[in-house]
Amino acid sequence: MADQSAATGRTITTDVCVVGAGPVGLLAALALGRQGWQVTLLERRPQPAPDANPKGPAVVNIVQPVTLHLLDRLGLLEQLSERAGVIPGAEIYFGGHLAAQYSYAELADCPVPHALSIRPFDLVRLLLSEVTDLPNVTVLWEADTEALVSGPDGGETLTVRTGEESLTVRARFVLAADGRESTVRELAGIPTEVMPAGGSYLDVVVPSPPDWDGAARAHFGAHGYLLETRRAEEGLVLVWITDADTAGKVVEGPVEGLVEMLSGVVPRLADWIAEHVTDWAQVRRVQHHFVRTKTWSQGNVVLIGDSAHGMHAFGGQGLNTSLQDAACLAEAVDSALRGDAAAGIESYEAVRRPFIEAFQSLQVSNTQQPPAPAAGEEERAPEFEVLALGQPRIRPLIADAARFLAADLDQHRR
Ligand SMILES: Cc1cc2nc3c(=O)[nH]c(=O)nc-3n(C[C@H](O)[C@H](O)[C@H](O)COP(=O)(O)OP(=O)(O)OC[C@H]3O[C@@H](n4cnc5c(N)ncnc54)[C@H](O)[C@@H]3O)c2cc1C
Repeated sequence: MADQSAATGRTITTDVCVVGAGPVGLLAALALGRQGWQVTLLERRPQPAPDANPKGPAVVNIVQPVTLHLLDRLGLLEQLSERAGVIPGAEIYFGGHLAAQYSYAELADCPVPHALSIRPFDLVRLLLSEVTDLPNVTVLWEADTEALVSGPDGGETLTVRTGEESLTVRARFVLAADGRESTVRELAGIPTEVMPAGGSYLDVVVPSPPDWDGAARAHFGAHGYLLETRRAEEGLVLVWITDADTAGKVVEGPVEGLVEMLSGVVPRLADWIAEHVTDWAQVRRVQHHFVRTKTWSQGNVVLIGDSAHGMHAFGGQGLNTSLQDAACLAEAVDSALRGDAAAGIESYEAVRRPFIEAFQSLQVSNTQQPPAPAAGEEERAPEFEVLALGQPRIRPLIADAARFLAADLDQHRR
């Protein structure tokens, strides 16, 4: 368990300050902590009880094989899988017709033969237990960053309040993993747009249908986009993403209208849906946001995850790309701390940003009516291989990061 007594001191001097103990900040803190760097992790929320379980219908994230491979290199995949649901492949339908069928096991160079449906909370809990095992990582809960000053030597100084105490954290690097409304990004003065996504997103969970194969099924059509996928280890989630007008006609009426719409898209589940979707209270609506920033790093402040590029849930790439960023940027920061050029951080952004922005545009086009102006139906769907293995240009960097995460710890301990 990391020593928290440092929090009572006036100044903490550290190699890396990670702000935000979500999945992305925790992965970065773990990767750098295991390399032996002094890491201070600041989280605004109170420390969760060890047996805490989130109430209500949990958000489910689909984690793709390329990302699972990184978690495997950290030694976490087996445990993560215990509370997750296996997704063996996917089917894509256009206008009710099966257009493509994919299996992860049959995809060339796929590092894990399936995707997983996880509760983000389970991943956070797992990463946190690893992080708090490291004596060189200090976690400060209920910590709010109030000021950030860049020094002439490239170091960063944060003024942090935890409860009644105000303390100073001096860090060689600051990783802002504090989500889409990032305080650190604002304190660093990085120009940013946080835009609410248009259209509508809603999801509803039903029990796993009998004889279900667990494959994800994506349906594109006049209704917009409907995804059938697993909810962690039990349950089927139906996610409906569409433009505001199409959704409005359904959500203003009784829940039977939703049942009719879902059943029309997925006739084979009509009876199952009618039996299990009986009340609007079962249906969750989510407002997604897009984050676009002028830069992902400034001085020695580096944005990772939603703070750099929050996105819509369409295509399930928010957590995937963010965990990949955390691994790749942790490696770049490790190099910079060892005295190599910090150029890896900027060159990562140069390769990553065009992909992210194109993906965000695809997400926008799937919530518009007509859905994809001047585009064929096929262009509305992200490529299965790109989701499974990551964007082609980033794959060599992810492969390097995977080796970095798995590196012999004794060799690197400082
Ligand atoms: C309904 C839904 C479905 C999704 N489905 C998928 C999917 O299938 N696949 C996928 O890849 N992605 C999916 N996503 C996106 C994914 O959940 C996010 O991209 C991911 O959680 C981002 O992680 P993060 O660590 O960057 O940010 P967050 O999870 O937001 O974590 C940020 C952390 O920083 C803390 N914090 C905030 N401000 C401060 C501060 N000032 N100081 C200290 N700490 C602070 C917060 O308390 C939090 O712990 C989905 C999202 C939603 C809403």
